[in-house]
Amino acid sequence: MTRAGLQDTIAAIATAPGSAGVGIVRVSGPDALAVADGLFRGRRRPSRTPGGRFLFGALLAADGEVLDEGLCLVFRAPRSYTGEDVAEFQSHGSPAVLSRVLARALELGARPARPGEFTLRAYLAGRLDLSQAEAVLGLVEAQTDAARRQASLGLSGALGARVARIGANVTRTLAALQAMLDYPEEGVPEEDRETPLAAAEGELAELVASARAGQVATRGARLALIGRPNAGKSSLLNALLGYERSIVTPIPGTTRDYLEAGLELAGVPVTLVDTAGLRETRDVVEAAGVRQALNLAGAADLVLALEDGSLPREPLPGELPEAQRLLRVRTKADLPPAWTDPAALAVSAVTGAGLPELREAVRAALLGDAARGEAWLTTERQADAARRALSHVQAARTLPDDLAGWELEEALRALSDLTGRDVQEDVVDAVFRNFCVGK
Ligand code: GDP
Ligand code: ZN
Repeated sequence: MTRAGLQDTIAAIATAPGSAGVGIVRVSGPDALAVADGLFRGRRRPSRTPGGRFLFGALLAADGEVLDEGLCLVFRAPRSYTGEDVAEFQSHGSPAVLSRVLARALELGARPARPGEFTLRAYLAGRLDLSQAEAVLGLVEAQTDAARRQASLGLSGALGARVARIGANVTRTLAALQAMLDYPEEGVPEEDRETPLAAAEGELAELVASARAGQVATRGARLALIGRPNAGKSSLLNALLGYERSIVTPIPGTTRDYLEAGLELAGVPVTLVDTAGLRETRDVVEAAGVRQALNLAGAADLVLALEDGSLPREPLPGELPEAQRLLRVRTKADLPPAWTDPAALAVSAVTGAGLPELREAVRAALLGDAARGEAWLTTERQADAARRALSHVQAARTLPDDLAGWELEEALRALSDLTGRDVQEDVVDAVFRNFCVGK
């Protein structure tokens, strides 16, 4: 995004395309209230109205024709979303009305806003940091409650506060190291060196781990169901979905291709993949299916390994993913068990027994501790900065006092990148490029 024209008054339709009960056109910039005076006729002129108030009245075309009746909301700099004067016009939400209101705002001197430009102005005015701007984007795009919650925590500044806490620990050690340069014989006391750095490292490691959960909450997760033919994969998929999505048959080896189904599991958008049965086989089609199953499993965020609980247990063939990406499931729990294993969740697709526990186990495996109310990292940009900060703190802990300082300065730089107070312009632009017009 070019930075030219940031002094202009901008206008855009802020609500989604298509018809709706209410639509909003937003105008921001030094002439926003003058534009409003030209566009809106109410009990008083918008430019004479205090900030934080609204007027009821008529939205007018150039020739005085009433386009619609509606509200004009007045916000005054710096107490607005962008930090500038802002006028918002609420009218009926049809494209016909909104496009005429926007066109009139442009005639009156506003220019069309670029994608994300309202939020970019808020960022440049210091009303948001970059991680909060990303949270705005997250809130606009949130498809699930988990994603909404994370974005809302990010916007509230909870993430910024967490990062600041880490930064304070790093700064404490850095200050102690610098003091030591002046009085080398004193050395740096344990509580100024090891204690704060261990705390910073612990918190950073948690943040880095939360990035996966944050991204899962935002973009969803892929879950693969694997197991021998007839283990009950298709039946479990159907039971989780609540309807017949894949074909359930008593003949082994019928799911030769694979099926995908989307659902929400405990607030996480999940794509379930029902793979072909895992079985050592000479059948070419099936062998390809087995290979594909293992490939799909490799690409999944979590694998459910199903084993038939009504038959003697046989080890699953092939190379299984590591334990933290694998949940073991004993199927057909309504039948007399041929084996038990405390590490395997017992479920029955027929009675539904164990399904709530399975959903909870999936949620815990995907979101982990991150679910307990702290702010997470939700973008790869944030995760990258956190990983850099972590590696510098780790390096500082292994280095002698006179060398550790540089690593800690780098760690602080990475932390400030994370919240994005003084980041490069191109990084900022990359974030705002993902916004829609009107936000
Ligand atoms: P897949 O090959 O792993 O997809 O297995 P299916 O889902 O097609 O199931 C194979 C057979 O096991 C079918 O006859 C199902 O009706 C039966 N089956 C699956 N789940 C259960 C269950 O929870 N209880 C019982 N009693 N039978 C089941
Ligand atoms: Zn199947």
